[in-house]
Amino acid sequence: MLFARLRALATCALLALSACATPPPPPADADLYVNMTLLDPATQTRTANGYILVSQGRILAVGRGEGPEVAAERRHDMGGAYALPGLIDTHAHVTLGRLSVRVEDGRAALVAASEDEITEHNARLLVAMGVTTIRNPGGATDANARYARRVASGELIGPTALAAGEILDATPFEGLAIGVTDDASIEAAVAYQAEAGMQYVKLYHLLTEAQIEAGTAAARRHRMRTIIHTSGVSWERASALGIDSIVHAMPISPDLLTPENRARYQGPELTGGKAFYQWWELVDLDGPEMRSMIAELARRRVTIDLTLVVFQKQFWGDDPSVRDHFIEYTHPGMRENWRTFRFDIGWTQDDYTRARAVWPKIMRFARMLYEAGVPLTIGTDLANPFVAPGADVHTEMRLYQDAGIPSWAVLRMATNNAAETLGLDESIGRLSPGYEADIVFTLADPSRDVANIENVSGVLLNGVRYETRGLIVGRP
Ligand SMILES: [Zn+2]
Repeated sequence: MLFARLRALATCALLALSACATPPPPPADADLYVNMTLLDPATQTRTANGYILVSQGRILAVGRGEGPEVAAERRHDMGGAYALPGLIDTHAHVTLGRLSVRVEDGRAALVAASEDEITEHNARLLVAMGVTTIRNPGGATDANARYARRVASGELIGPTALAAGEILDATPFEGLAIGVTDDASIEAAVAYQAEAGMQYVKLYHLLTEAQIEAGTAAARRHRMRTIIHTSGVSWERASALGIDSIVHAMPISPDLLTPENRARYQGPELTGGKAFYQWWELVDLDGPEMRSMIAELARRRVTIDLTLVVFQKQFWGDDPSVRDHFIEYTHPGMRENWRTFRFDIGWTQDDYTRARAVWPKIMRFARMLYEAGVPLTIGTDLANPFVAPGADVHTEMRLYQDAGIPSWAVLRMATNNAAETLGLDESIGRLSPGYEADIVFTLADPSRDVANIENVSGVLLNGVRYETRGLIVGRP
């Protein structure tokens, strides 16, 4: 007993835990996970030979050593694995299915379907790869509300989702975007989505400054946060208008170019994703326009997810070794769909060459944002061409490491930084008592090399344990 007390005190001293009086015995339903290294990105600590005690979907205790006594069947030896907080994909359109063209009155319109089978596949694969929470930045409001209900009831294995409804844009897109014009139509769209339980308002790239302003005001009235994908209005301007988050590594506004290059930029006249690389060819990352923008983002703490992986798959669209990396984890129906719907339609060899030539500049931009203190999170743009559910969260993390961002910082982007962005940093993103038992287990240490996150072996999702292999085998 004395020895146990001494050991407990030693553990307290080692971990600097606050509640170090003799702990009460664990409840009978508690599960104890032992023999693993605990990784806490928030504090950048590595605890060898750690344990985690879980009950009712929450972490009761963490520590070093054998942990408290529990029934034999409640004690799980993790065989030397690494444990870290569940990953967060801040850009996963989990309810989006295939795109199709509908012709009505001789006019063609794009339609985005939501299909249960594809949603279930994506949700399951996200969990298999260690993703326990997502932000879904746009989709049909009713499909997203239904997803939340099905996950909450246990009918569907999937990450907890915070979501936006239909994205607000100048033109409608069935199943994905609602067309808005004036303040009244913006208020009506936002009110409907708030009523349906959405937490975010997604503002899209064809909106004017006045519409963006009206969108942020409406979101605030309904206590929702805003996400913007903008190309005409600059990121600096969007930030000044009070936007909470910006998505995609494409700040392709002419306002961010030097005056000489602004004249050369063809911008919106360039179709088929060519504006992406042309803007990057012309931008001066060290020019006053970009310096001012980055300082503004850092000052206002606007969160960015660059979704690097979706652009990498576009820029290497003719190279299966990059484009199809992890394609086996995508739903066959989506693969079929990407034969016709993709961002590099009509690209020639010259387009790919020019796009790949700007990639180092995009990577440098990612590092500049990090170094300036702009909050970054990991987002993949799941449902878009060639993005694999969950597995490409690992790719996205690796890309930030390739950009020169330290491994611990990348792990924070995928865990507690994202939790903070979502306003959930009191309940997820840490391995600490009181936090949700959302935990990823890996067979190699991702704090030494982020690429090791690919060795994910299992996950606890709200305290329920899943093996990665089992979830993958269930794929259609
Ligand atoms: Zn998106």
